[in-house]
Amino acid sequence: MSTPGSHDARPIEREGDSLAHDCPIVQDGGTSKWLAFDCPCRERHRVLINLDNRRHPSWVVTAAAPLTVSPSVDGTRAGRRCHYIIRA
Ligand SMILES: [Zn+2]
Repeated sequence: MSTPGSHDARPIEREGDSLAHDCPIVQDGGTSKWLAFDCPCRERHRVLINLDNRRHPSWVVTAAAPLTVSPSVDGTRAGRRCHYIIRA
């Protein structure tokens, strides 16, 4: 009914592969441009984060398998905040 803790960054625990099976990294000329994944919040909306450090804000994939992204993802959508860490 409520979503306590929705304003706190939290690691995504990936025991299985709930994210990993559907995390396409869009590349262009060998450079990673975007990472697309479904938000772990209950709305499961698609999130696109920029991996191109020439644009801001940008994120860095520090490990591809298991997927680790830095810094935390902090998105606002329709008045709700989705803030979490992608880390195995
Ligand atoms: Zn979300």
